[in-house]
Amino acid sequence: MRVVVINTGTELLLGEVLNTHLRFIAREIFQFGLRVDEQRTVPDSPTLQEAFAEIFPRAEIIFVTGGLGPTSDDITRELVSDFLNLELLENSRVRETISRRLALRRIPATKRIWRQALVPRGGQVLPNENGTAPGIYISANISPKIPSPHLFLLPGPPRELEPMFRDFVVSIVRQITAASEKFVMRSLRIANVGESIIEKKIGAAVLAIPGIELGYCARPGEADVRVIGSAHGVSQAEMIIREKLGDAIFSAGDETLAAVLVRLLSERKQNVAIAESCTGGFLANEITNVSGASKAFVAGYVTYSNEEKIRTLGVSRESIGKFGAVSEQVATEMAQGIRERAGATHGIATTGIAGPSGGSEAKPVGTVFVALSSENQPTRCEEFFFPSDRETFKQLVAQRAFDLLRKRLF
Ligand code: ATP
Repeated sequence: MRVVVINTGTELLLGEVLNTHLRFIAREIFQFGLRVDEQRTVPDSPTLQEAFAEIFPRAEIIFVTGGLGPTSDDITRELVSDFLNLELLENSRVRETISRRLALRRIPATKRIWRQALVPRGGQVLPNENGTAPGIYISANISPKIPSPHLFLLPGPPRELEPMFRDFVVSIVRQITAASEKFVMRSLRIANVGESIIEKKIGAAVLAIPGIELGYCARPGEADVRVIGSAHGVSQAEMIIREKLGDAIFSAGDETLAAVLVRLLSERKQNVAIAESCTGGFLANEITNVSGASKAFVAGYVTYSNEEKIRTLGVSRESIGKFGAVSEQVATEMAQGIRERAGATHGIATTGIAGPSGGSEAKPVGTVFVALSSENQPTRCEEFFFPSDRETFKQLVAQRAFDLLRKRLF
């Protein structure tokens, strides 16, 4: 079934508000084998009717968001009823709910407030438990002379739309889609392999599966590979991807690399301490963004100066003098030092040159060493070269560091 989302709101087009509804709706309807085929944003003006005229013939479900409130720029309800030639009728239950809500909050009613109780004839009210304007569902082809798709009119504020969607829209969508053909999607997250290398490894083999759709989404240090198609086609594709990419796949869901690490450490009753120089606490921040991090994270030290590396981590002054603070030797001593001093199972260390200044011919900007020390295992140190802006540099280093430990935990 073709699904279109139409977001109304001049504020969206002015860039004042970020459109979060598309993401929310796309994720919610996926459980029914639906995907958003098209999205359009229109201003708070009769343009919505032009969009209807163009989109109705090719859509089977349309979600319209915004413009249901009491102000003069909230005109979705009126535009829809006009377009479908459906009279607007006051719904006494909605009016009562609005009255009660206003009384509870001691808000005086203005004349325009009651527009929110108007529902196009035949429309089904979707209660709004977090605001005054209810949503409205209008079933397909409600007016005999005007072919129309299933239409959901939903409020603009996310805190109103999202619970309404889950509580009232989902069950209607379930009924609408009960008999339709389903497709499935699988998304696999890959660490530290470039998109084009991934494509080279899997592209041809996956695309040889009939009806399969393959997509990539790259972020610093990771990429998602997404396959959409029949259940059989998708499982064939997943087998190929797993075979070709092996342990570079760290998740088959939404889990971040840091979250995978926290989970793996917690499952093994192990933990990690982190000593950071060039990443300035970024790794500790990523780990502590994961709920349950306290089970797996002991401490994070940002030892930026040489003196602090010596004093806090026990790095030897000679090593710094001989090899420099950005070196395999110092990274290794940092990782061992933090692990021993924090009493952790694993110690991770980063030291590098984020730039733009501070590079040399021997160690240009972007050079970084990541070391991992673990109980009863040889310490491992890897050198990377990430010439990029400081923020991206930190993200890339974090991904490498986390992945080093993740692979050790396998
Ligand atoms: P209200 O009763 O608040 O007027 P409404 O249904 O008329 O609700 P709008 O007036 O269109 O909705 O939007 C209200 C607010 O909701 C906007 O100012 C904006 O902050 C937020 N909003 C609207 N559309 C979106 C969207 N697509 N994504 C995120 N936020 C949105």
